Amino acid sequence: MTFVVTDNCILCKYTDCVEVCPVDCFYEGPNFLVINPDECIDCALCEPECPANAIFSEDEIPAGQEEFIKLNEELSQSWANITEKKDAMIDHKKWDGVAGKIQYLER
Ligand code: SF4
Ligand code: SF4
Repeated sequence: MTFVVTDNCILCKYTDCVEVCPVDCFYEGPNFLVINPDECIDCALCEPECPANAIFSEDEIPAGQEEFIKLNEELSQSWANITEKKDAMIDHKKWDGVAGKIQYLER
């Protein structure tokens, strides 16, 4: 079992989640974060920390967002590890809650 970062993180990237992860398994892309499923220990600490409610347990992914399971796995292989909180993206307030942001995902 792993936790998964989903659509609402895209273009927000608050990064509160990385501070609480005991195994430092978050990885950062240009406008999104992902969790490495092989490193996640399923502790659930990150889920309530996300201001965008973008983190879900693998078995509780909202309908229509299942593709994020594979995306987290794939992108965590090539993106850089992030362990400290940084500023959210400039327009995070505007984008928080907008549906279907996967079309803006930068790799
Ligand atoms: S706290 Fe939520 S929105 Fe922020 S980087 Fe983590 S998953 Fe993305
Ligand atoms: S569930 Fe725990 S181990 Fe997995 S990403 Fe969240 S904080 Fe890290």
